[in-house]
Amino acid sequence: MEMACLDLEGVLIPEIWINFAERTGIDELKATTRDIPDYDVLMQQRLRILKQHNLGLTDIQAVIDGMSPLEGAREFLDWLRERFQVVILSDTFYEFAAPMMRQLGHPTLLCHKLSIDENGMVENYHIRQKDPKRQAVKAFHNLNFRVIAAGDSYNDTSMLSEADKGILFRPPQNVIDEFPQYPVVTDYTAFRDAFKQASNRSL
Ligand SMILES: [Mg+2]
Repeated sequence: MEMACLDLEGVLIPEIWINFAERTGIDELKATTRDIPDYDVLMQQRLRILKQHNLGLTDIQAVIDGMSPLEGAREFLDWLRERFQVVILSDTFYEFAAPMMRQLGHPTLLCHKLSIDENGMVENYHIRQKDPKRQAVKAFHNLNFRVIAAGDSYNDTSMLSEADKGILFRPPQNVIDEFPQYPVVTDYTAFRDAFKQASNRSL
């Protein structure tokens, strides 16, 4: 049996924080794991900025409600789900991802959660576990699945190394340079082909 593990932001949907930064005009919120690989440092910075600007969960969700998946993402995901058991492994939060999950047909998503205070402000974030993408792949291996994983950035590389096959989708140049062992694809047609090649079945 084969499992496909997909990153979410940058692979199926735009970067939520970058879109939020553009719509609110707060440039500091544009930083992602591509810029700051230490996720806790990045999140503490984001929460501090949100508080400074008095922005709560409703404001953030209003922005996300106006976003769409990347062009062709839904069709690609539907294609993949017909051929693999697909699980999305993301470092986003259920509270942020919900509107996008609806547009993607509610695929299985393993991510993190937020706590919100009585004023609707994001109080804190809760990581489900350390190195969650790698741990998920390990767990699927324990369940006797062969795993093909795909992502676009640093926070995906431990998942890719744990998987039987890894694929990079539209990665930045520094990730391509540091991880030359993974095939790189930049459109969904090539992405389908990469999954066909990585599979041990004839698809
Ligand atoms: Mg990503």
